[in-house]
Amino acid sequence: MVKQWRRWCGTAVVMWLVVVARVWMPASGQGAIQIVRQDTATRYPYSVTFRLSAVSSAAPITEARLYWQAGPQDVFNVQLVAFTPASLVSLEVPLSTQLLSLPPFAQITYRWQIRDGQGNTLVTENETFEYADNRKDWQETANERLRMLWYGLDDALVAELFAAADQSYQQLAADFGVTLEHRPLILLYPDRRAFEEFQDFVSNVEFVVGRYFPGHNIIACLVTPDLPRELLTDTLAHELSHLYSDNYYVGYTRLPLWLEEGLATYHESADLSDELELVQRAAARQRLVPFIELPAAIRANNVQTANLAYAEGATVFAFIHEMWGQGSVVDFLSAFRRTTHVDTAMRNVFGLGMADFEIAWRAWLGYPVEQVPQAIPTPTLIPLLLPTPTYLPPGGS
Ligand SMILES: [Zn+2]
Repeated sequence: MVKQWRRWCGTAVVMWLVVVARVWMPASGQGAIQIVRQDTATRYPYSVTFRLSAVSSAAPITEARLYWQAGPQDVFNVQLVAFTPASLVSLEVPLSTQLLSLPPFAQITYRWQIRDGQGNTLVTENETFEYADNRKDWQETANERLRMLWYGLDDALVAELFAAADQSYQQLAADFGVTLEHRPLILLYPDRRAFEEFQDFVSNVEFVVGRYFPGHNIIACLVTPDLPRELLTDTLAHELSHLYSDNYYVGYTRLPLWLEEGLATYHESADLSDELELVQRAAARQRLVPFIELPAAIRANNVQTANLAYAEGATVFAFIHEMWGQGSVVDFLSAFRRTTHVDTAMRNVFGLGMADFEIAWRAWLGYPVEQVPQAIPTPTLIPLLLPTPTYLPPGGS
């Protein structure tokens, strides 16, 4: 026992000497600071601790900054670390994650910047790790397109949901004309408590069965026995469509909301008969929401209006598929990388302005019309010079 310890201890001493010899060789300027150890520890759902040991051969280390970033923003947070200057420093920076609104398995990226008294600076490479929820026995199902983490669920059900999500992914890839650079992660929760636990930061969790976390490339879904299978696959497809779109449009470009929701609804199921029936019934009663009103209707408080707006948007994509084919869907979606103007995108891709497109769509529905409501053209403003009123100071004359 003692011998064994000695042997181990001897190895450690030798290793330490190697480290010391390597880093305390006389050096000046470049390379004076070396990292001895760098890692992180996650205590889900409370905190993440960043740890670093560094040594400088030139002068005591006087300054350390931790840059970290999680989620949608590309901007890094900077934390100046307080410590006593020394040639060898061991730093620990705890970060409370409870106010960060992070979904489990969100990616956190960080780097360190260390400076010594002579002004030598070392910036480490960006490192990325997962804010993993290690309290559960997660199982993984994955291929080159998707990654699914789950626990407490029937294998066959998971296989079925994975196949459905993968099929949705492939349809989205065909519609957008590209595959995603980063593999989406889908989390499946077998009980509502666990599903809601990390979502304190979002409202209306109660009736939600699936959610996409923008910027994290993560979708969380509730999979309980009482939920119909079709609802589960529809939810997966819907959220995956939002995720895809979010990855596709960079910077300030994006689909107008009614088209974004329309596309997600279009992808929900292979057969669009429910949506088409709803839209045709509204058309028959002359109750369709005109395209110019869809931007407001999609977030209407009235559930029927909102539902109709979702369904109309979905049938727009069915119409494009049927009339112009897959290639035009790709062109239409890509047009919004250059414009946010629906009329411009439609003119460029279909040679029809929004009003003419709507007239064609209504005919396709089986309820042709001669004209549709159009946006009132913006009048040309004639500059009018108003005389600047002269204010009199109180009591003045
Ligand atoms: Zn949606």
